[in-house]
Amino acid sequence: MKYYLEVQFTLSGPLPDESKEEIEELLKLFAEKTQESRDKGEFEFTQWNTKDNKLDITISSIDSLTPHVAVLRLRKQLAATLGKKYRVGLRGFNFVKYTIETELEDKPVKEFSLPLVNKLEFFEKEGKNYAKLDIDPEIEEDFVEKGAIERIVRRVGEKISKQHYGAKSEHHQISWYSGEKKHFTDENPTQLMQKANWIQRTNYRNQWILTPTLTTLAEALKQIMVDYVYEPLGFNQMMIPKLVDWSIWLRSEHAEGIYQGGFEPYFVVQPNSADPEYFEEIADYITITKTIPSEKLAEKVSAPIGGLSYAQCPPFWSWLQGKTVAKESLPIKVYDWSGPTYRYESGSAYGFERVDELHRIETLFIGSPEQTKEIGMQVKDKLRVIFEEVLDLEVREAKVTPWWLQQSAHEDEMDSAEDLVVGTIDYEAYMPYRGKREESEWLEIQNISIIGQKYPKGFSVKAEGNIELWSGCGGGSFERFLTAFVSQKGLDKNNWSEKFLKYIDKLPEPVKFH
Ligand code: ATP
Ligand code: MG
Ligand code: ZN
Repeated sequence: MKYYLEVQFTLSGPLPDESKEEIEELLKLFAEKTQESRDKGEFEFTQWNTKDNKLDITISSIDSLTPHVAVLRLRKQLAATLGKKYRVGLRGFNFVKYTIETELEDKPVKEFSLPLVNKLEFFEKEGKNYAKLDIDPEIEEDFVEKGAIERIVRRVGEKISKQHYGAKSEHHQISWYSGEKKHFTDENPTQLMQKANWIQRTNYRNQWILTPTLTTLAEALKQIMVDYVYEPLGFNQMMIPKLVDWSIWLRSEHAEGIYQGGFEPYFVVQPNSADPEYFEEIADYITITKTIPSEKLAEKVSAPIGGLSYAQCPPFWSWLQGKTVAKESLPIKVYDWSGPTYRYESGSAYGFERVDELHRIETLFIGSPEQTKEIGMQVKDKLRVIFEEVLDLEVREAKVTPWWLQQSAHEDEMDSAEDLVVGTIDYEAYMPYRGKREESEWLEIQNISIIGQKYPKGFSVKAEGNIELWSGCGGGSFERFLTAFVSQKGLDKNNWSEKFLKYIDKLPEPVKFH
């Protein structure tokens, strides 16, 4: 990698002439040390000068210390030297010009741009491919300190690799199958439930009314979860917030995948002011016209402050954030069904299996690696009992690429997914109306993941006595469970399993319409 940086330090005042020799010496020593500490590469201060309260330094580096890291170190050394002896302070620095040339594994399919990069060019030399980046000189100092330059360079390679290989191919390996089960219908379950007035679409995209009939079935499923999973394994119910601000999605790393496939949140905005006068005009307009002046309204609200619950568990972590969990409190085992989850499911309108407002069960556990792995396996086995025995569904388990590994930054964690040390298992149900079992697409109804250190690290959670902390979680929606169930067993209770019926005292008669 080849770097060229012109940096300008701002000083609290001009440097006295007698300080110049010292600076010369400091730079010389810095370059020598850098050179000595590495067996290859070249690092050089090609020139420097000072005028008024500015100090300009030019750095060139080939396969050696990166100039911006040199600047960060130099800043300290200069401040010490100049401050003590000459009472001149360092105010900060800015880049005048920063170019980076990096070799590429692949040639880009298509040119692209990147934030904080003013110019991105690709070229070939002696059969090799390179990218040349002009870093935006306005880049904030603290971005540089926190590794933005390194991530810019890495992002170039990631984007090219994505152009060639597309989004990571979904790893999908079936690890267990219930075997064939008896089906009582091969009709579309959404249509069946709609015709029976069990569910009804609203005016809003992919949103449904869940009538008392359907809600009774959802409540039965809750009780089944308690009896088969949560009671025996010692899980407690809690209520996780459903409005999620950016700080959480930054820590969970959902934010970096925003609308890149896998994280499609609904955004939340705030009013710019809550003063009645501020909205009076809007209120008047609505009163008179009986319509919403959407554009005017948009001017009166903030940029998104975050969004609605998407994956359910990330906001849980604000509870433990920055804390050290007592050993006696581990493992933590909780579940949440306190409110809906929202996903902007793009594409055409979907059935009840893919809704924008969904009702999910989240199962979450935190503990040592051993505890986490053990609980993960226990939950998985109990879920199997619910799907296969209680609901009598034709289902299978598949090891899949988890979402957090699909984001390229985590590619290197991939192979540990092999034996679910860290990884995800999906439960999938056969949907007879979609065609033959071998050819048709099965419906994912639930997943369970062992996530390792990701969340405890992301939210700075520690455990007493330096125990390594892991977490695992799983989610499944009533919409998916019931779509899968109706798709195989239909609406007639006579065809439902005894074990399920035991949980339904009385199925409310659907309301009829004339
Ligand atoms: P899919 O690939 O089918 O969109 P997903 O990978 O987005 O599913 P996850 O993010 O793994 O789903 O969420 C876990 C569970 O949440 C799913 O197994 C399913 O039960 C439920 N779920 C996810 N999206 C929806 C949706 N739009 N409608 C109903 N349930 C959903
Ligand atoms: Mg999805
Ligand atoms: Zn989760």
